[in-house]
Amino acid sequence: MLHEGRPFVTTTGAVELWHRACFDRRADPIDVLPSTIVPELAPPPSRTPRVIVLAVAASALAGLGFAHWRLGGGMPLAASYANVELAPEPLPAPRTTTVTEVAPPRPLHIETQLEARYPMPTLDGDDLDSVYPSLRGWTHPVTASAELMPELRSRQFGVGRAGVEGRPECGAGHCGVDLDGPRGRRLVSVADGIIVRIERAELGADGKSGRYVRIQHSDGTLTAYMHMDDVADDIQTGDKVFGGQYIGTLGATAVGNTPPHLHFSLELPNKVGDKGDIRDTHYIDPAPFLVRSTIVKSAQRRHAVKPAS
Ligand SMILES: [Zn+2]
Repeated sequence: MLHEGRPFVTTTGAVELWHRACFDRRADPIDVLPSTIVPELAPPPSRTPRVIVLAVAASALAGLGFAHWRLGGGMPLAASYANVELAPEPLPAPRTTTVTEVAPPRPLHIETQLEARYPMPTLDGDDLDSVYPSLRGWTHPVTASAELMPELRSRQFGVGRAGVEGRPECGAGHCGVDLDGPRGRRLVSVADGIIVRIERAELGADGKSGRYVRIQHSDGTLTAYMHMDDVADDIQTGDKVFGGQYIGTLGATAVGNTPPHLHFSLELPNKVGDKGDIRDTHYIDPAPFLVRSTIVKSAQRRHAVKPAS
């Protein structure tokens, strides 16, 4: 019978469902309270109009609203049926989170401020450390260093250096980075490689580099360590060294009045992968790889692997 009814909202705000035949006489005085439920099975009352109050429908609507609320839709749906007298059923407090909420995935690599300042260079669209894998996972050359890269501009790559003849790739003349540290601080190779040159004379061969070590890595890149106070006794040209292996100590040989530091430089072969001519190279700024390196507390003391004879 309910589906034949005609809904009507009274001035008191209640929803009534009227029998069609009675709708036109709805204004007649009645003695039934709007909230009274007329049982379906009761004999049809003789009085008119017959009022069916939708308590059942109201509770169904309230249920809908409750479900809507639980789904996180904001205002409960029941609020839009303000005319329906809801049972005083307490509604749950709105939830700010749901158990099905999934935490966002953690980024695999968190870029540090230094890495952002020294982004990875690219070569023909590829990250340089994928073209030259030896540039990845360096050990910082200065053990127990207080910093990955010097803040002072004068210590960085490409700044002016008096008396340095031009290498066009080195900007105003400085072809490396000057890393800070006290005299005697142990130095290590940044990666596996072969020693291609050792200079033990105090002023070095050119009078400017001091004692130094130059290492060629497996993909043809070269690193050099200059102004050393001492070069490890047990290493020689041709020896194989490992990343993190002790090669000597930080010093101030051939630096003039400058305080002790490690002049550290990085070269790439002019032809990718070429390991034949260690003079056919160009310098690049090692900063992007230094800021991604790991500083170790102490050098690994191990015997260098001598070349087969
Ligand atoms: Zn320098």
